[in-house]
Amino acid sequence: MSSTTGHSAFPAPHPAIAWMDGDFVDWENCTLHVRTQAGFFGANIFEGLRAYWNEEAQKSYIFRLDDHLSRLEQSMKIMRMKSRFDTPTLRRATIELLHRCDFNEHAQINLSTYFRYSGPGEPLIATEDTGAHITTIPLPRSPKIEKGIAAGIVSWRRISDDSVPPRAKVAANYQNSRFAQNEARDNGFDVGIILNSRGKVSEGPAACVFIIRNNVLITPPVYSDILESLTRDTLIVLAKEKMGLQVVEREIDRTELLIADEVLMCGTLFEILPVTSVDRVPVSDGNVGRITRELQSHYLKTVTGQYPEYAAWCTEVTAPKVSLTHREALAWVESPDAAAYAWAKESLADFGSYLEEPSKFPCNFARAAYRTHSLHFIFAGSDTDPLELARVRQGLREYLETVSSLTGIEESMNALAILFKPDATEQSLASYHQTAWQVMQDWIDNDPQAWPQDIPTDPEAPFWSLCFAGVPIFVNVSAPAHHRRKSRNLGQSLALITQPRAGFDLVGGPTPEGDRARQRIRAQVELYDGEPSPDVLGTYHRGDLEWKQYVLTETNAEHLSRCPLHVPSVAAAAPAQDNGLAAGGSR
Ligand code: PMP
Repeated sequence: MSSTTGHSAFPAPHPAIAWMDGDFVDWENCTLHVRTQAGFFGANIFEGLRAYWNEEAQKSYIFRLDDHLSRLEQSMKIMRMKSRFDTPTLRRATIELLHRCDFNEHAQINLSTYFRYSGPGEPLIATEDTGAHITTIPLPRSPKIEKGIAAGIVSWRRISDDSVPPRAKVAANYQNSRFAQNEARDNGFDVGIILNSRGKVSEGPAACVFIIRNNVLITPPVYSDILESLTRDTLIVLAKEKMGLQVVEREIDRTELLIADEVLMCGTLFEILPVTSVDRVPVSDGNVGRITRELQSHYLKTVTGQYPEYAAWCTEVTAPKVSLTHREALAWVESPDAAAYAWAKESLADFGSYLEEPSKFPCNFARAAYRTHSLHFIFAGSDTDPLELARVRQGLREYLETVSSLTGIEESMNALAILFKPDATEQSLASYHQTAWQVMQDWIDNDPQAWPQDIPTDPEAPFWSLCFAGVPIFVNVSAPAHHRRKSRNLGQSLALITQPRAGFDLVGGPTPEGDRARQRIRAQVELYDGEPSPDVLGTYHRGDLEWKQYVLTETNAEHLSRCPLHVPSVAAAAPAQDNGLAAGGSR
């Protein structure tokens, strides 16, 4: 974990980063001004989530992320809040924050949308000025899960739907919970149970209540002034589906707490806490009950992703998707997710201008692929930063997996354009080419799979092809410094146009039609470039040198004599866990 406890006022281990208003920020900078409605009046809506670390799978799962986000939307609707950040953005940011924190242990997550400023003198109305923040900390499960808790009924009454609706998860509501919890603690209890204004059992400060009587699970209904708890819902499902128990949602009298066979409280943070006494009266014999224990065990298996039937509740923490379809890329460059890639929008448009009418770019396939939105894109913020290089490799893996099932014309059209952040000033062609070779070498050095057995590893050998993730690929390098050979210039970004070899070869195979197709393309290229067609072009199938076609020089006069790439003769796979940190990036 990239945590710091050093100079922070926060009293627990925490990561170095958080997410706020569209950006990943330093933990210490995830702050609000005191004059925001949220800072002053508690006008923020929030969700508390947990991410569970599955040791065996070495993966983290966020439990019921989509349901938490739906509840956030509902709270916002009640509060008349229109968040600047839509749900997909918050979803992606949450997953990416967890991914970046790389905890390898259980974690707790707080996600909040908040009101910022309204007009002077009117600080209590919904304002369009909103923000959002997401923080996460490592948090083990509570030891109280095992031994249970002592609950006490408090004198405070629960806020109600006709005054401060508990259904909306608003920070200010929690003053009621605070009164209750302070009283309970003052009286020596672990937790308070709050009755509603009708005198019936409502809930705890941050947890719902269940009692078990004669093997029936009973819990107050959603109109008992409770938060519509997701753990409550999970338990209802598990009790019915995994244990065949009857579940009844009805009002509960306070004296039922004293005579119940079992009592439990549940919530995301609490999980399932057995209540072993209420107002110092032991529940049954004061030990944790059988049904509660069984529910706990099903709950733990559910949240750690061990039950396939509830897998949809567990969102695996993965790296954000890097390889985007053309349509995804068009949306992404406009979204807050692309904040760190502000250049990408212009690069994409610029790239498009080379392939769109009236451009006569001499590759019909490229033009058609662009027109039909068949291309895929990776935007690379740097060609040296190991993390960005790791992102590119991850994107390349994603892309190859996406297109692995395509055949025929689709396979040829679904090429990948890797666009690098443009340099402030144009570099020399040799420098762009060196960068391109370095990026390709980085793929070789950090290939997750061993080189395919039937492809030679020596680039000077016939039938050699660059390979990645077990797939032979073709790379066409386009650079802004190609002024004469314009067919290798697709705008301000250095562009590595990449695709599986098989798709690339479909048009120009070793057949008379293939020869004619290549001939046609070369004639078009000559016309577009005003230069003789490159003499190094050949066909893979006839064993012509492949690497020479990746990078072309301005004129046919100067070609590299040897391939700069080095493929170890027995190319071993890089460690499977490629998060870019261990691999160390390019050489
Ligand atoms: N009631 C209240 C008042 C809460 O704050 C919480 C915690 N979010 C719960 C119940 C339990 O809800 P959940 O299971 O969705 O965490």
